[in-house]
Amino acid sequence: MMTNPELVPILTKEEIQQKIVDIAGIISRDYAGKELLLIGILKGAFIFLSDLVRHLSIPAQIDFVRASSYGDTMSSSGTVTLAHTVQIDVRNKHILLVEDIVDTGLTLSGLQKYFLSQGPASIKICALIDKYERRETDIRVDYTCHTTHEGFLVGYGLDYAENYRGLPGIYHLKI
Ligand code: 5GP
Repeated sequence: MMTNPELVPILTKEEIQQKIVDIAGIISRDYAGKELLLIGILKGAFIFLSDLVRHLSIPAQIDFVRASSYGDTMSSSGTVTLAHTVQIDVRNKHILLVEDIVDTGLTLSGLQKYFLSQGPASIKICALIDKYERRETDIRVDYTCHTTHEGFLVGYGLDYAENYRGLPGIYHLKI
C-alpha cells in the first residue's frame, strides 16, 4: 500500500491538448486520401484516442484491442496475447496503433506482428509518450506527444493499480 505518493507534474492539460493538435495536423496531412483505421490499445489509450480523433481533419475508423495484463503475456520474442481484438476487417486499411506509453516496446512489437499478418496497407505507431530507457525492441514510434528517458507516469489515461486515469495532466509518480 502506497502512502503519500508524490505526483510531480510533467505535462499540463493545456500542453497535452496543444501537442495533440500538432500531431493530429501531421497525421491528417500524412493520411489524406487514405483509409485510416485508428486502433486504440486498452485501457490506457482511451482518453488520448478520443482527443486525437476529434482533432483530425480527415475521416478515420476506430477500433480497440486489449492485451492481457502486462508481465504474464509477453514472451521475449514479443508475442502478445489479446483479451479483446478488433471487429473491423483491417485488410488494405492504413492502421495507426494508438498507445498511451511505449516502454520496452514489446507490446507494440507483438501487435505490429499480429496485424501485419492480416494484410493491412500499412501500419504505424502513435504513442502519447515515448519512454526509451528500457526499450528492448527496435520499433519506431512515428508520432508522439512527449519523449522521456525514464519514470513511472500517471494521469490522462495512465494508471497505477487502476488509479489516476482521470487526472487531466500527466505526472511522474514518485513512491
Ligand atoms: P511495453 O510493452 O512497451 O513495455 O509496455 C507498455 C505498457 O506498459 C503501457 O501500455 C502501459 O500499460 C505500461 N507502462 C509502461 N510504462 C508505464 C508508465 O510509466 N506508466 C504507466 N501508467 N504505465 C506504463
